[in-house]
Amino acid sequence: MPKLNLHRRDYMTSLVGNLSTEELKQRLGSDHSAPQHKQPRTPYLTPKAVEKRWQVLNNADAQAQLLDSVTYEQMEHYQKNIENFIGTVKLPVGVAGPLRVNGLFAKGDYHVPLATTEAALVASYNRGSQLITQAGGTSVMLLNEGVTRTPCFAFFDLAQAGQFVAWVVTQYDEFRRIAESTTRYGKLTDISVNIEGNHVYLVFEYLTGDASGQNMVTISTNAVFEYILHHTPIEPESAFLDGNLSGDKKATAQTLRSVRGKKVTAEVHITKELVEKYLHTTPQRMADFTRMTTVGGTLSGSIGINAHYANALAAFYIACGQDAACVAESSVGITRIEVNKAGGLYASVTLPNLMVGTVGGGTSLPSQRASLDIMGLAGSGKSQALAEVCAALCLAGELSIVGAFCAGHFSRAHHKLAR
Ligand code: NAP
Repeated sequence: MPKLNLHRRDYMTSLVGNLSTEELKQRLGSDHSAPQHKQPRTPYLTPKAVEKRWQVLNNADAQAQLLDSVTYEQMEHYQKNIENFIGTVKLPVGVAGPLRVNGLFAKGDYHVPLATTEAALVASYNRGSQLITQAGGTSVMLLNEGVTRTPCFAFFDLAQAGQFVAWVVTQYDEFRRIAESTTRYGKLTDISVNIEGNHVYLVFEYLTGDASGQNMVTISTNAVFEYILHHTPIEPESAFLDGNLSGDKKATAQTLRSVRGKKVTAEVHITKELVEKYLHTTPQRMADFTRMTTVGGTLSGSIGINAHYANALAAFYIACGQDAACVAESSVGITRIEVNKAGGLYASVTLPNLMVGTVGGGTSLPSQRASLDIMGLAGSGKSQALAEVCAALCLAGELSIVGAFCAGHFSRAHHKLAR
């Protein structure tokens, strides 16, 4: 008879097995007593409110760390990026590069700032960048752009939903006029309709200039949403500004084929000699590894296949003032590693959801702006180049980590650098 795996039972027993019902109730039950200390009600950033928050926290050592003198001097810059401000967390920033990018928008050798507390990460991206640069650089193409908001409407029945949609499709010009009246840069480029029973989801897709655009499309779509609610000939039973079809901060299958933010592909051909010199392995072994891990990823239910885009993106987004939570959708994509006709290595990455911008969000905060400046990519007119650099960086990371696994160095590098 097969043996039962009793680990889960034993673990649950260790958590709650020794607690009586009364003890459990005491621990997990609601507690309606008033909190001893309350934070000031205002969410705004004023010196007085910051001081009051620290009075409540009553921790001088923590205050000295979080509200150091530079943070204190610069705190007004954070006004529009945070509520209940108490200070800044310091993260180490490393640089990877030079990373040679031969893109439609990014052209040159980039020194890429990465903010992380994960040892071996910058070293790995640095190694991949050196290799790409030695190979003549990576060819990179921005392929598409677009950000969506997806209001949803519930009706009594399908007939009403159909009537609503019949009206909606006569309103596209008006929708565009209203949406674009809220922004100088946002352009409504497409509207599509999804009917599911008595529910209707409208997908509004925008170009957002150099902003990553989440706020922009929310504000624009909200203006259209209000117009719909006031003018629709068929009143919905309920309606919401977003019906979760946008893929905002989620890894979704739909965005693997379409776009959210910026879609970019990057590739490189590398000679066998360079692979051996930099990665201490062979193109054939790297291709074998990738074939096996592609199957492994498929078995695990991965959306797309890649080794660790999330490492590059989290460190890059944090350093450069991007919305770090968008790593959820941005780290969806496909890596391919093959042996080319000359016996060298061909590698490519395709990322359909790079949510990046060079204006707006956190991009004008002091140190985040400095990180963008290092690459010459701060401000208007730079977001497409930023997306191409981002994809190039992911390619560097894929080469390095696959090389490390193939050479048996993965554990060793972490042991050496992190312990
Ligand atoms: P934003 O800072 O809200 O908007 C960008 C601003 O930059 C707009 O005021 C825009 O002008 C201006 N701008 C100046 N030059 C521009 C140019 N060349 N291209 C585009 N815009 C330019 O930033 P966002 O990118 O729309 O939103 C990003 C932020 O939204 C992030 O902080 C993210 O965390 C947050 N977020 C919001 C939601 C949401 O649903 N609200 C969801 C997720 C994340 P106009 O005013 O004329 O457009």
